[in-house]
Amino acid sequence: MNSTLLQHLNPEQLAAVTLGDESALILAGAGSGKTRVLTTRIAWLLSQGHMGPGGVMAVTFTNKAAKEMLTRLTALLPYNVRGMWIGTFHGLCHRFLRAHWKAAGLPQGFQILDASDTVAAVKRVIKAMKLDEERFVPKAVAHTIAHWKEEAARPQDVVARDEQDRTLIEIYANYEAQCQREGVVDFAELMLRVYELMRDDPALRSHYQQRFRHVLVDEFQDTNKLQYAWLKLFAPPGGGAVFAVGDDDQSIYAFRGAQVGNMHSFEREYRIDKLIKLEQNYRSCGHILDAANHLISHNERRLGKTLRTDQGQGEPLRVFEAPSDFDEARWVLEEAQSLHRGGLARSEIAVLYRSNAQSRVIESALFNAGVPYRVYGGLRFFERAEIKHALAYLRLLENVNDDTSFLRVVNFPARAIGARTVEQLQDAAKATGRSLWQSVSALQGRAGASLQKFIELVEGLRRATEGQTLRAIVETVVEGSGLAGHYRSDKDGAERLENLDELITAAESFVTQEGFGKDAVALPVDELASNGQLGPGLTPDADTGEIMSPLAAFLTHASLEAGDNQAQAGQDALQLMTIHAAKGLEFDAVFLTGLEEGLFPNERALQDFDGLEEERRLMYVALTRARKRLHLSLAQSRMLHGQTRYHVRSRFLTELPEESLKWLSPKQGGFGSGFERDYANAWQRGSGLSGVVGAGHREARGGGWPAPKPAAWQQAVSAPVPKKAEHDSGLRVGQAVFHNKFGEGVVLTLEGAGADARAHIQFGRHGAKWLALSVAKLTPI
Ligand code: ATP
Ligand code: MG
Repeated sequence: MNSTLLQHLNPEQLAAVTLGDESALILAGAGSGKTRVLTTRIAWLLSQGHMGPGGVMAVTFTNKAAKEMLTRLTALLPYNVRGMWIGTFHGLCHRFLRAHWKAAGLPQGFQILDASDTVAAVKRVIKAMKLDEERFVPKAVAHTIAHWKEEAARPQDVVARDEQDRTLIEIYANYEAQCQREGVVDFAELMLRVYELMRDDPALRSHYQQRFRHVLVDEFQDTNKLQYAWLKLFAPPGGGAVFAVGDDDQSIYAFRGAQVGNMHSFEREYRIDKLIKLEQNYRSCGHILDAANHLISHNERRLGKTLRTDQGQGEPLRVFEAPSDFDEARWVLEEAQSLHRGGLARSEIAVLYRSNAQSRVIESALFNAGVPYRVYGGLRFFERAEIKHALAYLRLLENVNDDTSFLRVVNFPARAIGARTVEQLQDAAKATGRSLWQSVSALQGRAGASLQKFIELVEGLRRATEGQTLRAIVETVVEGSGLAGHYRSDKDGAERLENLDELITAAESFVTQEGFGKDAVALPVDELASNGQLGPGLTPDADTGEIMSPLAAFLTHASLEAGDNQAQAGQDALQLMTIHAAKGLEFDAVFLTGLEEGLFPNERALQDFDGLEEERRLMYVALTRARKRLHLSLAQSRMLHGQTRYHVRSRFLTELPEESLKWLSPKQGGFGSGFERDYANAWQRGSGLSGVVGAGHREARGGGWPAPKPAAWQQAVSAPVPKKAEHDSGLRVGQAVFHNKFGEGVVLTLEGAGADARAHIQFGRHGAKWLALSVAKLTPI
């Protein structure tokens, strides 16, 4: 077995795999085989009889990575690897506590609180202490407690600086007591409990220290302080051998307390005298690697390494600047389809984005084209809790007898309708065979009154949204239901609020095709327009000419999209995930989307230098996931969080070597002209319409960023504005117009003729809209 096991290793890898029983640190770039070396080493140690399968512990970062490692080992080893201690930090701690629950002071059947359970538990404590939730926001308090636990600090160890701290510590102590009473542990507690048990119980400690002769850690750069201390208890310096592999350039969790500094401590404390470096990259083609190396060289804080590949240059990176996020998604779809037709499995194609909210538009494009996809490390948009809450209110507007929706939101946000009341209501409904809504009148007293209030709330929303546009309906419901307020008062509700805004965005961009009866499918306006389907069968608003979709169609679409289109287990599906979730993985083809300043690098990270360097490492991780094909894209305008935003190219694009890039010209000629972008840019800066087509403005589009721009960018910017043929409406693309309700706008697209003529117009405050020209009154300006 040995010869085949070691056959495909280069000399440095071989040296690492076959090290004796000593500790080692492998510092190497992406795709150099760190994980492979680590896995092979486990197999090698076992085959050499260094220890039995019970004598090894291997820690990885994500469940997906742990699974992958088990799969690889199964292929290498003749016996069952399931029983081996291989998993994530949390997974291993869980296992440890299941074995030592008594010593850890836990009930045998202890349960684990996930992130939202934890916040709910903290909230109960705050309530019981009669504290002001505005001052002690449960989610923020939960974070603080987790942070203390990561510092290995119990309530008595935390030093209070002021009154606020004293209260927080008291909450912490009460929370601990409550968890203990209820027999539950949160994520941070899992780690800390094991740490304390190992620290305080010499017999147990020596048992495990003798048992685990070898401890192997993947992605070592992302371990935090407690995790490192934890490792030292299982395999102290001078004891069992610790084999750590990592890449400082891929440290992407500093914001959560991970410390690259652990690498230095490890080197010192474990007396590592020679670092093992791997410089051969086996994953990516030359152009991809050149791009990654070039990019990361812009970071100042690096330990420094180089990577080379023997795989040939491969294809240059395809870069596409789309006019809008819709066009970007469509491009991803088309390119992915063509790769698939060319023989690539869908599971070998990944679409990456910086933040979860970006996935909606891409999901929508894939959904409409019937392409199976799977979203990792985050829920699909329409399955996120806050979105489901909002949809439940919307469904009640359509149908008050929808019991599922009723149950979902009757007490969300909390309005003191207890489980007992709901139970009574369900009994009443069951007895009469009526819906929950219809049964409310059967309940008397306080329970009846609180339910009546809910009914009034929904009826109020119904009245308020009558005759409104879909966007306005969703907006009214998100606010009026109390959902927005609820998340706004939650210090960490920002992402959920963004998603709710995104739902408003989604509502704005949907339109239905009438004439399909109950099977009506709602499609994004742009999708229909591009298929040439917009027009017949659609009723434009009599007043504004805006082409709208009814609420019912939107809800149908939402439930379809939340439902079965998610690829079935085992089905070949496109892989969608954030860059964080892609760590350690590899794909034949990778699409990296949303390369826009503010989005990536993210504006929140831009406030300090460390933040920018961490974003750049994240970009490095993204680029290095690709084996053969890498696609980069950005959108000039993006509807995000309920607003259309105009972005300039990410500075990271300017940090890639031009010779490795292939810029694809924008599909719609008009957009390449620079005119619309100048116009958009003028808006971004809040200036008026006049004088926007000037060289000065073009210069300004760089956002004041001094880095040199790629040649293609310069070209696109300075290309003359082409003369457009006039549409039979008398309008032309790029023309500025005025609309009574939406104000000033610029024509993006013109389609159809006569009664079917329609225009896609970018309005300053109202975003992009499709208007039926036979109805809309537009004045050229
Ligand atoms: P990352 O930093 O992204 O986690 P890594 O350093 O862990 O990357 P691996 O995932 O172990 O890299 O390896 C990258 C790819 O190269 C894998 O497909 C692996 O099988 C392959 N590979 C590694 N070493 C060799 C080798 N000596 N010969 C052939 N292929 C190899
Ligand atoms: Mg790896």
